[in-house]
Amino acid sequence: MKVTFLGTGTSQGIPVIGSKHPVCLSDDFRDKRLRTSVLIEWDDYSYVIDCGPDFRQQMLRCGCEKIDGILFTHEHSDHVLGLDDIRPFYFKQGDISIYAHKRVIKSLKKRFDYIFETENKYPGAPTVNINKLKNKAFKIGNLTVLPVKGLHFKLDVFGFRLNDFCYTTDINYMPEKEIDKIKGVKTLVVNALRIEPHYSHFNLEEALEFIKKINPERAYLTHISHMLGFHAEVQKQLPENVFLAYDNLKITI
Ligand SMILES: [Zn+2]
Repeated sequence: MKVTFLGTGTSQGIPVIGSKHPVCLSDDFRDKRLRTSVLIEWDDYSYVIDCGPDFRQQMLRCGCEKIDGILFTHEHSDHVLGLDDIRPFYFKQGDISIYAHKRVIKSLKKRFDYIFETENKYPGAPTVNINKLKNKAFKIGNLTVLPVKGLHFKLDVFGFRLNDFCYTTDINYMPEKEIDKIKGVKTLVVNALRIEPHYSHFNLEEALEFIKKINPERAYLTHISHMLGFHAEVQKQLPENVFLAYDNLKITI
């Protein structure tokens, strides 16, 4: 399985528009972060987790020619706003499968009403196959996908375990019984926003505590704010099995 980090930035991305913060002005390509998303490829399948406002740019940058579906963690703008840009895939492949909790589907229907229209639909609008996710395992081909529930302040969000890999973002808490579901993964991705605490995202210290509990072989941090600091400097301070993800990083599971 191959995982490409399409974006590793928090909701505003890095650089933040108009910001003179040193990290926003950095020349290091690893300090330029589009909104958080990953592409996961195995056998002939390619799926993305989330589809934020940078989706078009991300698909162009990674040269992705087809996607079989989108798994949504939650409905916030930085994770869903690119849905209209599935159009090139839809024109080539037909309906695109989306997987999301029914609350998230409801929100998508509100934001993208024309995509879900069943009568007098505009001919250029894409169509999706809706798969409603519950907090239980489901199959994509022969691969079992296990949703893992965390809290994003008061909102439930889904992470996903695929065999030895688990991706979870936008959480500030995960109940023990959900943590138990991901123990034993070899590669873990989790969000780490910044140094200071935040009400709806793990800060760096909390993310490292979370990683310690799961104890994977290696962990990657994502959904990063410019306030976390320069990539090169933060990376030096991390435990040896923990890495700051950066855009376009590809890992093999
Ligand atoms: Zn987010």
